[in-house]
Amino acid sequence: MVRTIALERSGWAQHAAWQEAAPQAFAADVEPGSEGRIDGRCDACGATRGFHGFVRPAGTREGMQCLACGCMARQRAVARLLAATGLDTRARVYLTEQASLLYLALRRRFPALIGSEYVNGWLRRLRLTVWLWRQRVYCRVRREDVTRLGVANGALDAALSLDVLEHVPDADAAFHELARVLRPGGYLIATVPFYQDAPDSERIASLEPEGTVIHHGAPEFHGDPLGGGVVCFHHFGWDLPARVVEAGFLQAKMHYVQDATRGLPRGIWVLVARR
Ligand SMILES: [Zn+2]
Repeated sequence: MVRTIALERSGWAQHAAWQEAAPQAFAADVEPGSEGRIDGRCDACGATRGFHGFVRPAGTREGMQCLACGCMARQRAVARLLAATGLDTRARVYLTEQASLLYLALRRRFPALIGSEYVNGWLRRLRLTVWLWRQRVYCRVRREDVTRLGVANGALDAALSLDVLEHVPDADAAFHELARVLRPGGYLIATVPFYQDAPDSERIASLEPEGTVIHHGAPEFHGDPLGGGVVCFHHFGWDLPARVVEAGFLQAKMHYVQDATRGLPRGIWVLVARR
């Protein structure tokens, strides 16, 4: 059975509305415990070879790899919502990653796809470029800062960002910038580590003007596929949709994306904002 997502009717903008809906949403999650192959269609590459992974309470987000393209559940949840926008293959889509399996899968479906990486240093950029060449994508990695994108006003139909915004010291500047580059009616689709029980976001680190990072509590670093840790500045909570609207979007909601037939046996939080 193929379930479609009606973006206008699903998702929650406020904590209270989610609290009311949560028991039903959680009940639709597949019980954790199973491991192995599950059948289904991948929303990133379109293949039907199925997925492999563990159904763990918190383990599906970075797992459940598609057996064809290798995209993990979080990447496919974003691809699922991108499909739900109804944008056609000519759409101008921006992805804040380039040396990634999601970039490889989506560029086959959206030839105008732009990918970029926030890379500092030529060596790291070279490494990422070599990775792309190994995948037979013969271009240099594009370097971009999500608070200052080299994209004209209103040039994009959709912008996708996966677990990047929590690493931006001034996340609101990034929301403003993403609103600038999207056309009216365009979509921002983003994942962040989302704290579904937190009414408000928490700033866990800040960047001083001279470049020093101040941690407000236990320092948190997230893994980087190419080694090293990246500072996490924010734990996002339910004020996120309102902050995104404040930055220039018409509407923003948190979607709990779940569909076992798409390799998403447990819900994955994805922000969808309409410019
Ligand atoms: Zn796939």
